[in-house]
Amino acid sequence: MSGGDKLDFEIRPNPAPVSAGDRAALLANPGFGRVFTDHMVTVRYAEGKGWYDARVEARAPIPMDPASAVLHYAQEIFEGLKAYRAADGSVTMFRPEANAARFIASAHRLAMPELPAETFVESLRRLVEIDRGWIPEGPDASLYLRPFMFASEVFLGVRPANEYLYCVIASPAGAYFAGGVEPVTVWVSPDYTRAAPGGTGAAKCGGNYAASLAAQAEAIEAGCEQVVFLDAVQRRFVDELGGMNVFFVYDDNTLVTPPLTGTILPGITRDAVLALAARSGHRVEERPVSFADWQADAASGRLREVFACGTAAVITPIGRVRFPDGEFLVGEGGPGRATMALREQLVAIQRGEAEDPYGWVQRVL
Ligand SMILES: *Cc1c(COP(=O)(O)O)cnc(C)c1O
Repeated sequence: MSGGDKLDFEIRPNPAPVSAGDRAALLANPGFGRVFTDHMVTVRYAEGKGWYDARVEARAPIPMDPASAVLHYAQEIFEGLKAYRAADGSVTMFRPEANAARFIASAHRLAMPELPAETFVESLRRLVEIDRGWIPEGPDASLYLRPFMFASEVFLGVRPANEYLYCVIASPAGAYFAGGVEPVTVWVSPDYTRAAPGGTGAAKCGGNYAASLAAQAEAIEAGCEQVVFLDAVQRRFVDELGGMNVFFVYDDNTLVTPPLTGTILPGITRDAVLALAARSGHRVEERPVSFADWQADAASGRLREVFACGTAAVITPIGRVRFPDGEFLVGEGGPGRATMALREQLVAIQRGEAEDPYGWVQRVL
């Protein structure tokens, strides 16, 4: 596509889709990120030509030359959002334009071309339409959509690539917490940071995740589920988790989250929580929280609850915090009242069970 022409998607249905019986068996307990639908979206980009060859086609391996730029210099970005089956049979998505805008922002940071927001949203709608039979039923189930783009040019020189492939794949997801919402234990990494000022912390790129995995392994080793990263300059202030933003709830009804200064990923769940918390009477503040204050305020009881949030798990209570010198509980270590109330409000809006005063939910089918 160039010159603002609308890109048309060519639909090539999978000639050998998974049988209805096998699909039902897969959907009964899909877990997260292991089961995939019959189709994928691909759109190509070449410098001077723009976006072209937009397709919905059978999901298949992507043939790749070993000199493809992404394999060497990690020029790759992605997104994650969910499609839901509403009670009336319609299919909805939560704030897909926000993902489209963030995909553009991530592309700028990684020196990649901009995929127009309308093409991004249409690509999701097309995939959900053809694979709608893969949206699982059930109160916590959804179809997780994973748009991503990478440098496909065959070239080992170090510069922004001249060719890219944009794809969307879809994966049915069951309840993230099989046994109900359980608080997690987090590890405050003494060795590793996630993102420095001027770096790629605010971009949703695979490289950020690659850089977080050693810390994540350290967390697992220490008996924790997730890592909390501190700021890279002073190693004092809480940034976020490897893939989730973080919120603190105090006994005076204040809800605090670290500000978006460029090292934190601007979560769409984070943004929604800020709005919902203000609406339900919390005072909300975006300001730095030091790890020392986290510990002291948990000890004094002033800090009542801490939770992490992101698309995949929505809202996850943080019950226990571990670091090399010790550990402490937040509140009684269980899921907090404000945390669970916000979670319920957000999930009800996402699933079309509560009024949506913000126009967040988009009907796509
Ligand atoms: C995707 C992501 C989040 C959460 O963003 P949502 O839009 O709420 O899903 C938070 N932190 C990081 C590092 C992320 O990659």
